[in-house]
Amino acid sequence: MMKPIIIVHGGAGDIPSSRVKGKLDGSKAAARAGYEILLKGGTALDAVEAAVVSMEKDENFNAGYGSVLNLRGEVEMEASIMRGSDLNVGAVTLVKEFLHPISIAHKVLTDSPHSLLGAEGAKLFALEKGFPTVKPESLISEHAKQALNNFLKHGDFGRTEIGEKDEGGVGTVGAVAVDAAGHVAVATSTGGMSGKAVGRIGDTPQIGSGTYADDLVGGVSTTGHGESILKYCLAHSIIKLMESGVDAQTATNKAVEGMTSRLKNTAGAITLSKDGEVGVHFSSQRMSWAYVKDNKTVYGINHNETFEESY
Ligand code: ASP
Repeated sequence: MMKPIIIVHGGAGDIPSSRVKGKLDGSKAAARAGYEILLKGGTALDAVEAAVVSMEKDENFNAGYGSVLNLRGEVEMEASIMRGSDLNVGAVTLVKEFLHPISIAHKVLTDSPHSLLGAEGAKLFALEKGFPTVKPESLISEHAKQALNNFLKHGDFGRTEIGEKDEGGVGTVGAVAVDAAGHVAVATSTGGMSGKAVGRIGDTPQIGSGTYADDLVGGVSTTGHGESILKYCLAHSIIKLMESGVDAQTATNKAVEGMTSRLKNTAGAITLSKDGEVGVHFSSQRMSWAYVKDNKTVYGINHNETFEESY
């Protein structure tokens, strides 16, 4: 039996200091929510879903409630989940009326012959599976409105630092876990980027970009400038490096920095190898992250700064 481990991120970007505490608290709570499932012998897949659900409810993060807004002032969410034992995936995009896109993605994985459902199709599927709808306006936070207003003043989508002037810095969320049976799973969920076009799809629902899990190698969840992450297939780039024998931390550094130097935009990633070794790296100013293992929580948000608490 393996010692279970779960790691989460709460988004990469130029996170303003006023948002640091909320993001760290929310990241720790999410990692612990997932770890509780692992301690009870639950699966990595259920643990990563629970961790992401916890952050989708929390307005400190750009996922579920608190998602950033598109140019029309609407929430359009995306999520993906992957199971490393059989490489099965579930993903949804352009979701507007549900609080937990990650749970719909999980259902796509278990109950649909398809891998990625979008817009009306994702809605029909979710309704068929009994997910409750919410009013789209109920997902909009004051912070997200403010962020869109800031964006509209300059209109410069895709600037290097996501979240500059507190625009999108509330953060995509993700989780990677290895359970006691040695199975790997990864989940990622986002509202995208402030001021995105209606119908814009980023990296998060795209397998190999936002999310990848393989029991033979490990798992990765990414965050940052979506158009760059998807061109670089960032999650799978990290997996490929590990497959060739590079350790989790070095692989994460190399791929994130490789993407940034090639595409001139920033990102972050969290990685676990199949043996539970950790990789965390971000080329943005900040990225909140937390992991729990051995009844210990380890977390951080700034470069070269790591905190530890008992679980
Ligand atoms: N990667 C997300 C997107 O581009 C944004 C983020 O991670 O903050 O949709």
